[in-house]
Amino acid sequence: MAICVINEKCKGCKLCIKACPFDAIYMEGKLAVINEKCTACKQCIAACKFDAIEDTGEEEGPVDLSAYKHVWVYAEQRAGKLMNVALELIGEGRRLAREISDDTKVYAVLIGDGISGLASECFEFGADGVYLIENPLLANFTTDGYTKVLYDAVKAYKPEIVLFGATHIGRDLAPRVAARLSTGLTADCTRLDVKVSSYIDYANKNTTLDTSTLDPASDDKGLKQTRPAFGGNLMATIVCPRTRPQMSTVRPGVMTRRERVPGATGDIVNVNVSLAENDIRTKIVEIVKSAKEIVSLTDADIICSGGRGLGDPSGFELIRKFAAKVGGVVGSSRAAVDAGWIDHSHQVGQTGTTVKPKIYFACGISGAIQHLAGMQTSDIIVAINKDPEAPIFEVADYGIVGDLYKVIPQIIDEWDGADELYEATVH
Ligand SMILES: Cc1cc2nc3c(=O)[nH]c(=O)nc-3n(C[C@H](O)[C@H](O)[C@H](O)COP(=O)(O)OP(=O)(O)OC[C@H]3O[C@@H](n4cnc5c(N)ncnc54)[C@H](O)[C@@H]3O)c2cc1C
Repeated sequence: MAICVINEKCKGCKLCIKACPFDAIYMEGKLAVINEKCTACKQCIAACKFDAIEDTGEEEGPVDLSAYKHVWVYAEQRAGKLMNVALELIGEGRRLAREISDDTKVYAVLIGDGISGLASECFEFGADGVYLIENPLLANFTTDGYTKVLYDAVKAYKPEIVLFGATHIGRDLAPRVAARLSTGLTADCTRLDVKVSSYIDYANKNTTLDTSTLDPASDDKGLKQTRPAFGGNLMATIVCPRTRPQMSTVRPGVMTRRERVPGATGDIVNVNVSLAENDIRTKIVEIVKSAKEIVSLTDADIICSGGRGLGDPSGFELIRKFAAKVGGVVGSSRAAVDAGWIDHSHQVGQTGTTVKPKIYFACGISGAIQHLAGMQTSDIIVAINKDPEAPIFEVADYGIVGDLYKVIPQIIDEWDGADELYEATVH
């Protein structure tokens, strides 16, 4: 649909500007003008007292998909440090770019102030180039500021795909940018594919998906974005066939980083920034770090998780002792969080954190699908459960059937280091 201003009727009262939630109307002299941010929500039509805005009913022409090229990764940094998920997505973006065509590139998009030094790290983890968006007003993340500059950059350079980490910031920024661009966004993807054949290959392993109607020789290079749906009971694959860019968020730990190539270089594009203080409606008065225990599940090599099988909250004392002994961090199932035994920041799973440690100990955890969604790509899974039929044993590399209160103290006594177990299993 197209919304337009009837110049003869417009009185320049600006009521439409106030009514527009998308900042899509501005004044040119005494006339209102609608820009490309318009989503045809029609709020302006309702607000106009002079019937000076109308919906022409005409469908907008189709988006020229061929005008969009290359894969972008929002390289999230905080206080000048790149988030792990950004490096994971650069590797994934590079894989997708090569599947699209030989001349498709992956670009990292760095936003901030004084962060150009991070470009080399992006290159070393696989970026062909970096778009650098720097301005003093971007020193700290603000939804308005980052949305505006990223939106402007996408409009100017037209990437085909834009990936974000599903962090607090990525989950805030990605939908804002997608809405302004009037394009789709798939949140919390666990798998991304470009080629139909590689998608079929993956989907055939998942018996709930029927791929018989798909032609592996198809040259469809649209992004196939797979994510859990219906409480994790089935995997949905979502496409964005009519608009560009195709946008996804991916949880930290789901994709694997590429091997670092020291000294790798690439192109840097300095993006012109048009940003004024009044574009940002919030003001950061002070940054206060959370006083809670900091749990870095995504970076941990070893995780010792406890579930409802602990029986009561004091069971986590044993899990903490276990984690301290093996050099790990404490995780948990949702049942333990819901029971109030431990903070949500420790929760692993679909509605908690996705992890990929070298060793994951599941202690008194049954292995519900929502828990598995967050830990089944761990290198080695060790399950301790007194029920030999518990589903966790289906994904475990080592299963110990027994009472965790007897088994864990024995492991603590015997533990000599993780290296031997890891080497024996992975190599
Ligand atoms: C939309 C949705 C999202 C969800 N998201 C998550 C999520 O992110 N993460 C998550 O974990 N869950 C999630 N859940 C909940 C999930 O479905 C399960 O309810 C939960 O994972 C069960 O936790 P549990 O394995 O600790 O408990 P239980 O399923 O009760 O299992 C306890 C296990 O402990 C064993 N056990 C008991 N005593 C002992 C003992 N002394 N020694 C050894 N073993 C013992 C039992 O045999 C049993 O297998 C979600 C559910 C929904 C609907």
